[in-house]
Amino acid sequence: MLKFLFLILLLGLVFFLLGVKHSRPAQPKKAAPEPRPPLPKDMSTCAQCGLHLPADEALPGRGGVFCSAAHRSAYESEHGGAA
Ligand SMILES: [Zn+2]
Repeated sequence: MLKFLFLILLLGLVFFLLGVKHSRPAQPKKAAPEPRPPLPKDMSTCAQCGLHLPADEALPGRGGVFCSAAHRSAYESEHGGAA
């Protein structure tokens, strides 16, 4: 009788272990997140300070676009006059 119980217990253990092994879902490899998503197309970078800003807010000027008129004039006075 004891043997019988032991056998059942053993079988139960085996099935339990097999079940665990089989029921464990294979972890799908997560797609690696892009390290640095590129800037959206409608973003511009201030040529003076490097600030990223929406293209429709950027001030176009000589040498690039700028975040503000102050930076545009500063850039143009630095790069515009003497070549
Ligand atoms: Zn700026």
